[in-house]
Amino acid sequence: MSVSPAATTPHASKVRRRFLERLRNSGVNDPRVLRAFAEVPRHLLIPEALRDRAYQETPIPIGEGQTISAPGVVATMTMALQLEGHERVLEIGTGSGYQAAILSRLASEVVSIERIPRLAASARSALDRFGVTNVVVFLGDGTRGRPDLAPYDRIVVTAGGPEVPRPLLEQLAPDGMLVGPFGQRRSQKLTRFRRRSDGGFAGDILGECDFVDLIGQNGWQR
Ligand code: SAH
Repeated sequence: MSVSPAATTPHASKVRRRFLERLRNSGVNDPRVLRAFAEVPRHLLIPEALRDRAYQETPIPIGEGQTISAPGVVATMTMALQLEGHERVLEIGTGSGYQAAILSRLASEVVSIERIPRLAASARSALDRFGVTNVVVFLGDGTRGRPDLAPYDRIVVTAGGPEVPRPLLEQLAPDGMLVGPFGQRRSQKLTRFRRRSDGGFAGDILGECDFVDLIGQNGWQR
């Protein structure tokens, strides 16, 4: 993955060192996950005018009324997926491409779906610039999943819906896990579902959160 000159100035490397330190202090203790966060240039995925905030613990607008989640939230979701490296992952809500770039370093293959054409296109070109080759970005309604490419070992939903989309649960492999925010419009519970070997699902709640809307057939209707 190439690193921009902006990331190599002494100030920038100090900012990124502190960023990793904060992630570590917040409980991100998997060295592979920390390395992924160290290597993905988050500042290159957000509007230029907001770049000085790139490594702060804050969501940042990325256009079209959408936001890139705060890094701690991305880290929590990534840790919750318990990736070992061999997994096929489905992501709903490509947005800036940040979560997809992180996942690309921790799993074998990432399928990511975005409903807004401009975001899908700019995420794709950013991933190409970073040399990421194991992520495919599709334009469409991610609440239906992508049954033609199922099953997935992991599914991560990065927009908040009223409840977990049923088609996504159905596209999970046995013992697979889905992590996503479900509940009300401005307040959701970050939830992890596990597909048990008897075919049922077990859910546990990881925390409270506030994501942008998951809009689609099995999400909010705008
Ligand atoms: N994972 C992204 C987070 C972006 S915010 C990142 O790392 O930057 C959530 C994204 O979900 C937005 O881009 C929004 O357009 C998208 N989204 C909302 N509903 C969707 C749906 N039904 N299918 C696909 N994408 C959706």
